[in-house]
Amino acid sequence: MGHFSHSKLAMYETCQLKFRFAHVDKLDMPFEQTVSLAIGKTCHHTLEHLYKQTAKGHTITLDMLLAYAQTKRSSETIALTDVTDDDWALVVRHVTRYYETYAPFTQDTTIGTEVRFTLPLENGHTCTGIIDRVALSGRILKLIDYKTSHSIKTTADNEYTSQLKTYALAAHHLYPGLFDTVQCIIVYLSAQVEQVFEFDHETMTKHKQHILDRTQEIWQKMAEYSFFPDNVIFTHSPGKHCQSCPFLTLCPAWKHKDMIDEEVSVADLAPTTIKRLVDEYVIAKKHLKEQEKKVEMMADLLKKYAHHHNLLALYGQSAIVGFRATYKLTIHDKDTLSTFLKQEGIFDQLASINHATLTSFIKKNPDILRRIDKQIASWDPVLMFGKITHTEEDE
Ligand code: SF4
Repeated sequence: MGHFSHSKLAMYETCQLKFRFAHVDKLDMPFEQTVSLAIGKTCHHTLEHLYKQTAKGHTITLDMLLAYAQTKRSSETIALTDVTDDDWALVVRHVTRYYETYAPFTQDTTIGTEVRFTLPLENGHTCTGIIDRVALSGRILKLIDYKTSHSIKTTADNEYTSQLKTYALAAHHLYPGLFDTVQCIIVYLSAQVEQVFEFDHETMTKHKQHILDRTQEIWQKMAEYSFFPDNVIFTHSPGKHCQSCPFLTLCPAWKHKDMIDEEVSVADLAPTTIKRLVDEYVIAKKHLKEQEKKVEMMADLLKKYAHHHNLLALYGQSAIVGFRATYKLTIHDKDTLSTFLKQEGIFDQLASINHATLTSFIKKNPDILRRIDKQIASWDPVLMFGKITHTEEDE
């Protein structure tokens, strides 16, 4: 059965292939990608320590808190290699601002920090997660999530709300009867901005169905992938998020960038390399598009000229362009035309107002034309290109 955490589901929704690399193939994620993760973890550990001490009735000063954070810096294995002093200054700034904003931390009563949950879905599937802090303020249950990213999501339906809805569902499972209202709160540590969300029953029911559907989908794909381990089952979704993806060098959408170029040669093409061929192909396609546009404009001009002078051939120095005259049906009012055809008893015969069938019907039954109002459909003479002759080649 599928037991996926909220973050795994979020990764799947961002890019299924990344999910496959990380959680199906279980490939290592290189450390250099995780500096921001290390900063986030250190801030989370430090605030967890703050609320644990406060819950025990201990007073903790800012200096004590920063000293605690410092011990985390040296104990964080990730931080040891990658976190620079500039990165560390961010941790100090986030913790200091938080302390100064919320001290003496009596806005609510903390009932848990780093609260783990397993939310039962259906058919044995579950969704797991960790809530940074759970607190009670009267009959309001607060589920608090700290973010260390610099970008503050401004819309109500941002990527974090999915995570918060899962937390709200978990809260009903973890603390039944303890509250009347659940508030999900994002605290952006970089700016000490709070965003508060409350979700109604319908929204949460829909969300639960959504995570169940996703879980079942992943479970199914994992089964298929065990039989057909190819790139088709978990699809890739390139985008801005690729910049921080640890699997860039493995990803079929990116890996050619760093591959050694290879020589290729085929008939009618000068020997080249694959990378040069890519550039040449794109330039050729662009020229082709420009040429097509030019040809269309020339054709239009020639047709108009021939039509205006009532000519069926135009002569150049070395070529002749022939035309044939025909009629073109233009439908102006499809609904009224349908009514007309029904009144005439021929609508069923035409199945529906299909341009081609109607054109061929009118050709065979020209009398119908007299009875169709020109406002509904018109039948106009047009010139089509006919034979093109290159006179010099012919000679
Ligand atoms: S590089 Fe982008 S497209 Fe490729 S796996 Fe990573 S997130 Fe997906």
